[in-house]
Amino acid sequence: MHDVIIIGAGIVGCAAAYSLSKYKLRVLVVEQGPDVAMAASRANSGIIHAGYDPPPGTLMADLNVQGNAMYPDLCRKLDVPFRNNGSLVVAREGEEEQLEELLRRGRANGVPDLAILGRDEVLNREPNIAKDVAAALYAPTAGLISPWEMTLAFAQVAAVNGVTFRFNTRVTGVLTEDDRIAGLETTAGRLAARVVINAAGVHADLLAHMAGAERYEILPRKGQYLLLDKELDGWVKHTVFPLPNPKSKGVLVLPTVDGNILAGPTAEDILDREDNSTTREGLARVRESALQLFPDLPLNRVISSFAGIRAVPVDGDFIIRSSARIWGWIDAGGIQSPGLTAAPAIADKLIRLVAGLIPLQPREEHHDRRSTLRLRELPLQERQRWIQRNPLYGRIICRCEGVSEGEIVDALHGPVSATTLDGVKQRTRAGAGRCQGGFCQPRLLTIVARELGISPCAVTKAGPGSPLVAGRLNKGGAGDEE
Ligand SMILES: Cc1cc2nc3c(=O)[nH]c(=O)nc-3n(C[C@H](O)[C@H](O)[C@H](O)COP(=O)(O)OP(=O)(O)OC[C@H]3O[C@@H](n4cnc5c(N)ncnc54)[C@H](O)[C@@H]3O)c2cc1C
Repeated sequence: MHDVIIIGAGIVGCAAAYSLSKYKLRVLVVEQGPDVAMAASRANSGIIHAGYDPPPGTLMADLNVQGNAMYPDLCRKLDVPFRNNGSLVVAREGEEEQLEELLRRGRANGVPDLAILGRDEVLNREPNIAKDVAAALYAPTAGLISPWEMTLAFAQVAAVNGVTFRFNTRVTGVLTEDDRIAGLETTAGRLAARVVINAAGVHADLLAHMAGAERYEILPRKGQYLLLDKELDGWVKHTVFPLPNPKSKGVLVLPTVDGNILAGPTAEDILDREDNSTTREGLARVRESALQLFPDLPLNRVISSFAGIRAVPVDGDFIIRSSARIWGWIDAGGIQSPGLTAAPAIADKLIRLVAGLIPLQPREEHHDRRSTLRLRELPLQERQRWIQRNPLYGRIICRCEGVSEGEIVDALHGPVSATTLDGVKQRTRAGAGRCQGGFCQPRLLTIVARELGISPCAVTKAGPGSPLVAGRLNKGGAGDEE
């Protein structure tokens, strides 16, 4: 019997697991994908929003501003790179009144230090921006993180504190007795629980209906992106937004925490909740809109494209509540943007909801720190010390990103370790550089097979159904594994 089962290992599920791991509870996270952050928490802009965008008085506004204030300290504790680059919303002549409205909204939400900058100051801060910019709303508290790494950090600390993660396990039913949660039906069998937190992203409404809890509706909205090469680091400094529209914050241009440039996302209402494909038309729209902000953006340096799906709640606000119909069911649904920013504050709210159902007793001792070895960021002498300790740190496998075999081996062991090539890529950046794995993938595959003790044919890109090799072409021919 688990005290709490969390459905979904996105940023919300993992932040909740991290916060709950400080209490004496048996906690399980059930995730249908092979790793953490397989959905919206993987494919987003990575912005820690300042909080001027959500309407005052909404949960989105409160939790955005609270979450924003929590990140710098959290990132220090959990060793997740954080870049406090500030954001600009730019307006052309005649549009300045809309900046005033955002400024009023931001102040009502409690966002600190907002200011409207004139043209010269904007050009001074962003020399490559379109010259017809008239003014911008500047939010110095906006920042950047790797959403994937943040999710992993929450999960790893939670795991060290005793939270269990079950990947490749889909929840297919909710078990109730006398309008109380009894457990979950999953593809790996039945799991008993006293409390269930529904953090299933774009599927959360379907699970709430399954449980018999209060109904709500989520609309999937796709966002497509272009990722540009790291050699452009510094070309764009702030997160630069156009004026928002009723559907989204618009197509923005921003640096990533790793030094790339990102342009996107589109806002396309779709029917298929799993359709994260990119399209020629979508990416053309990203190009066109990005050039309106930065006319000289070097779009010949695009190295990759991707898409994420927002879980847009029909009623507009986050849905974070204990069900009044089914005791023990807690929803964290409709967590669209700024859900990444709000996640640590959402987790705090979820803990209070759990405390309203079952007693929470703090653990006398728990871990609250994490550190990750990133050799390429270390001075040469320090790097040499690591190589003396383990020569695998001296064998560079990914030349674009300078990732060693030792770091790859580390990613395949320890808490919430990688089981797929994408998992290794996310944890180490091996294969995330200019060649996108073109050179290092065969070597990565061999290392993964060796470390996991499996055949190369069993190594997958992103879990079941995505093998990289089918077999050997000698003797028995394709399909013959050995
Ligand atoms: C294009 C885009 C841009 C964004 N930009 C930003 C931004 O810059 N800043 C910001 O603050 N926010 C941003 N967001 C919002 C942010 O990404 C989301 O709010 C956040 O990632 C939601 O996290 P989550 O854990 O609720 O959902 P998800 O990350 O979607 O996780 C839900 C998990 O549940 C699992 N799951 C679903 N159904 C089941 C089941 N039946 N059984 C088991 N597991 C299941 C899924 O596999 C998934 O891993 C953006 C979102 C998108 C799509």
